[in-house]
Amino acid sequence: MSPVLPLRDFSRPPVALITGITGQDGGYLAEWLLSRGYIVHGMARDLSRLPRERFSGFPDVNRRLVLHGCDLTVGDQVDRLLRETMPDEIYNLAAQTHIQTSFDDPAYTTDVNATGVMRILDAVIRIDPDRRMRFYQASSSEMFGDARGSVQNEETLFHPLNPYAVSKHAAFEATVNFREAYGLHASNGILFNHESPYRPASFVTRKIARAVAAWHVGKGECLSLGNLDTRRDWGHAADYVRGMWLMLQQPQPGDYVLATGENHSVRDFVEYAFREIGREVIWRGSGVDEEGIDARTGETLVAIDPKFFRPKDVRVTLGDASKARRLLGWTAQVSFAELVREMVEADIVRFETELANQGIASGE
Ligand code: NAP
Ligand code: GDP
Repeated sequence: MSPVLPLRDFSRPPVALITGITGQDGGYLAEWLLSRGYIVHGMARDLSRLPRERFSGFPDVNRRLVLHGCDLTVGDQVDRLLRETMPDEIYNLAAQTHIQTSFDDPAYTTDVNATGVMRILDAVIRIDPDRRMRFYQASSSEMFGDARGSVQNEETLFHPLNPYAVSKHAAFEATVNFREAYGLHASNGILFNHESPYRPASFVTRKIARAVAAWHVGKGECLSLGNLDTRRDWGHAADYVRGMWLMLQQPQPGDYVLATGENHSVRDFVEYAFREIGREVIWRGSGVDEEGIDARTGETLVAIDPKFFRPKDVRVTLGDASKARRLLGWTAQVSFAELVREMVEADIVRFETELANQGIASGE
């Protein structure tokens, strides 16, 4: 039987705590919550990374956005942060998110991504005996491993293929366990890859967008990539943070897949992105000798570098978000083509601004 959850207090602005606010999703979620009247406490280790200009449109932002330095690997800091902020909603987005880094340092990845979640959950049940706080855990489609030709939903078995996915799997189970054992309103969003102009360039989409933008401003260099044929169900981060929020507005907690329901290869992303600047890519050669050539100029735009191949890669992801559609009314709204366009355009603007600033600095 589902636990009886306490009623929410609507007589004051809701208070949210976002861990990982300096990350891609943290920024979008902060914007979403501020626009809905929340007081937002943001936590990360390196708060200087937060692009504050994103929030300049909120007139009372200095009062409603409060930042806290805190490391998820330090239990005392986590405990103190929760006691100081007493949030209605906790969005745990902080994580060591790089898959290659997780192979290099699996123990640290687990400390942040799995034990860090335990630290939050343990603090919540001690600090909030009435179970008023609601908890969102940023779980990942990486927990599924390969799609192997079928779509992945809440019923799909987990088969993590890297230490990052293993750590996220542990955190997923901890969230379910605290929900069942302590009656916590704790939900997992099993999110498929979502991107934006704020994605770090260590991810392939942003790496491609930046490289294409560089060609557009006359600074193009051959782009080195790994496996061009892996496929991802890629959505836009702005759509996905809306889904996180919807999960915590439900009377009962639950676990939900968020995905677009279509996937594309890295090769597709390259082709769409170059098309945005009027260049057609044709492919020559095979394996590590394959190259992407500009159909008009013959320039080499893309080459393969084996160092970007992974010891164990997820070849295909494809999500089925029908539960979220049915129960949350959530669907992804930004198409793949719109996502690629926005990312390339944003990097063109960044390069142009940089070049203009360099021109001003050198007095040209
Ligand atoms: P991101 O851009 O890499 O941001 C990660 C955040 O975690 C940063 O704010 C970082 O802050 C913080 N962080 C890292 N280690 C920390 C630590 N030890 N203590 C405190 N904060 C720490 O990630 P994202 O793309 O926004 O993703 C948000 C969450 O969703 C992550 O948990 C990720 O695993 C999950 N997820 C993402 C996707 C996706 O496609 N984006 C898909 C599924 C799940 P610093 O400034 O201190 O480094
Ligand atoms: P992930 O799905 O979280 O691992 O997101 P990434 O953007 O890092 O990788 C998506 C896919 O792109 C993976 O299958 C990678 O193997 C593939 N890929 C191909 N070339 C590259 C590259 O140069 N960098 C990255 N990060 N991934 C690449």
